[in-house]
Amino acid sequence: MKYIIGNWKMNGSRDLAWKLTLDLHQYVAAEGRGDAKMVLCPPFAYLPLMQDFLSRHQSAIGLGAQDCHAQSSGAFTGNISAPMLADIGCGYVILGHSERRQYHAESDAQIALKVKAAQGSGLTAVLCIGETMAERQGAQTNAVLSQQLNGCLSPLPDAAKLIVAYEPVWAIGTGLNANADDIESAHHHIRQELIRHFGPGGGKISVVYGGSVKPSNAKATLATPGVDGVLVGGASLQFADFRDIYAACA
Ligand code: PEP
Repeated sequence: MKYIIGNWKMNGSRDLAWKLTLDLHQYVAAEGRGDAKMVLCPPFAYLPLMQDFLSRHQSAIGLGAQDCHAQSSGAFTGNISAPMLADIGCGYVILGHSERRQYHAESDAQIALKVKAAQGSGLTAVLCIGETMAERQGAQTNAVLSQQLNGCLSPLPDAAKLIVAYEPVWAIGTGLNANADDIESAHHHIRQELIRHFGPGGGKISVVYGGSVKPSNAKATLATPGVDGVLVGGASLQFADFRDIYAACA
């Protein structure tokens, strides 16, 4: 299964959510493939209307959020819990995105608790890890990936409800797509780490790539050994771009 996951970040409107969901649903219904799963992760505000549409049309498209709290309820003003996401029909949640780490100071330990909370509510956690440009230039990529995985996978979550997204921070929103050798090498390292943590079950966890994926580089990225899909930011907000990235799975 290849995952094509759209992270809208803090973008969109009610109109865009309607239009994009409708257009993508019609495309996937007509041309969709059993071995490619599209997942849309809009801002919280648009989840209910999109879920309503997708469930009424029995769409093959999955729905996800971009974060959740580690607690299931309580005095946490402004937060949304994993049970709430499950309650409104979400199946996925992105956790540990570098923008959450950077702007909300999220630590690996906090992300680990969110992963457990998400899975406890039946959600699939899309766990993001990746090195900064300085870490890459210091030949620290593998060490950083190992450290983030060690922190985010303790306590050990359920391998069956986990997707790992390799997102080099320097490639996110910059137009700089990592080259195939870098992606293959990082994915290989992540796979070895997953097997070390989970045993043979670690061999089955999907590892997707994210960082300036566009229609022009999607085919090569998706064909890179070890790549089980893509996490797409900017290009997921344009129907034609996201459709073409999905179609590049073929
Ligand atoms: C992301 O935010 O997860 C991402 C990969 O963004 P972009 O595709 O815009 O680089």
